[in-house]
Amino acid sequence: MKILFVASEAAPYVKTGGLGDVIGALPRALAGRGHDVLVILPRYASIDAQQFGLRDTGRRVEVQFPNLNAGAHIHVHAPAERLRYLFLQNPWYDRRDLYGENGKDYRDNHKRYALLCAGSLEAARQWNFIPNAIHAHDWQGALVPLIVKRGWAGRPSPIRARCVFTIHNLAYQGVFPREAMSELDLPVDLFNPDALEFYGKLNLMKAGLVFAEKLTTVSPTYAREIVQSTETGAGLEGLLRHRQADLTGIMNGVDYERWSPDKDPLIPQRYSAQDLSGKAACKTALQQEVGLDQEPGTMVCATIGGLVHQKGYDVLAEAVPGMMERKVQLVHLGAGDAALEEQFAALATRYPGRVSAQLRFDDGLAHRIEAGADVFVMPSRFEPCGLNQLYSLRYGTLPLVHAVGGLNDSISEGPQGWGFRFQQESPTALLEALDRALVLWRDKRAWRAAQERAMARDHSWDRAAGQYEALYRP
Ligand code: ADP
Repeated sequence: MKILFVASEAAPYVKTGGLGDVIGALPRALAGRGHDVLVILPRYASIDAQQFGLRDTGRRVEVQFPNLNAGAHIHVHAPAERLRYLFLQNPWYDRRDLYGENGKDYRDNHKRYALLCAGSLEAARQWNFIPNAIHAHDWQGALVPLIVKRGWAGRPSPIRARCVFTIHNLAYQGVFPREAMSELDLPVDLFNPDALEFYGKLNLMKAGLVFAEKLTTVSPTYAREIVQSTETGAGLEGLLRHRQADLTGIMNGVDYERWSPDKDPLIPQRYSAQDLSGKAACKTALQQEVGLDQEPGTMVCATIGGLVHQKGYDVLAEAVPGMMERKVQLVHLGAGDAALEEQFAALATRYPGRVSAQLRFDDGLAHRIEAGADVFVMPSRFEPCGLNQLYSLRYGTLPLVHAVGGLNDSISEGPQGWGFRFQQESPTALLEALDRALVLWRDKRAWRAAQERAMARDHSWDRAAGQYEALYRP
């Protein structure tokens, strides 16, 4: 099959979260299964053309907006056989960040991502890439199914194919003032609650949810949660319930080329389930790097992720005094909301050598934390899939998770389990799970056996790729 992907980020070129990991890995898994895959992304200023060997194709696409023609140069990179990434270059993408700055989204994001969607269909046609299926991702790619069905700027879509739309996180829907409808020249009949309207505003994610043939999200539990209530469905639960027959949960995989302790070039010493001595070395190095006391026998707990409400780090912060009483260490990596950043910085000051707050995005450190920590904590309020718990498993770092979404699907606790789960989103429940972890921790053999079970879990992409394949077929 020929499959066209449209998305806003992809590792290793540019990544802010799990979506980037998925768009970096799933196309490769599909190409490995014999499909031709074309992925189209914005060419952000931060993408280093030299580092990745991007080539200017000399070709351009034109996309018409009311009173405005936006064009994009097409750059290309072909990382594997049957796999190509095209990058659309336009000054709209030459900004300091991807989606916004200083906690504020860029105001013209609707135009920036309309250019991506309309431009992708045009670029695919120019490339003579006539897909059997188009796979669009999150609100940034959501106009693709609409354009395929209804056209763009008064003209029919340059290509037509079956559309699959994936929700990576329902919390980000691409909501814009009503005027954005006319700025994109979208058909006015679509401004109603059954289509694009969302409480008087334009909701771009709805374009994907209404017009794609198949909908997916990134874990079976999240697929069930998002139809349940306004809280979990973020106001789209009604529409999602209406489309439930076409909605599937497909668990994300892991790119084990990038995330395996036996071949990770970013960690100080490699190791495997057969010989975990390298993990001890990684732990010592991590404690040194992030300023934790050099105590090999102390449990190092870790968190990685943006400081946003979803991730539940406020609950973790409340649990920190209790964690300190239990004599564990904690390292956090990730920036975000100013108030939470201050809270974590204050905890690091209050507990020097015991709590470390690394308030930034740092891919290398993320790898070293996965390798060097003992327990990986994910107190997320909701978690569509979550990737770090899957990486942790492979690194023999036992996850301790709030049992929601993909965390519920991937982490099991018990005599034959490979992690720790809590049901109530509260510091007390988190600390109770930590107490159970500490019981296991004192029994070195049992801990080691749990690590081995964790490292043996297989979340390779091939299985997920097979499930997507079935949806691409009519
Ligand atoms: P989300 O997409 O909601 O952020 P996921 O768990 O699906 O959460 O994916 C997060 C990905 O982003 C992982 O690969 C993780 O390592 C990475 N990541 C998140 N925050 C940071 C950070 N501060 N530094 C480095 N990598 C990060």
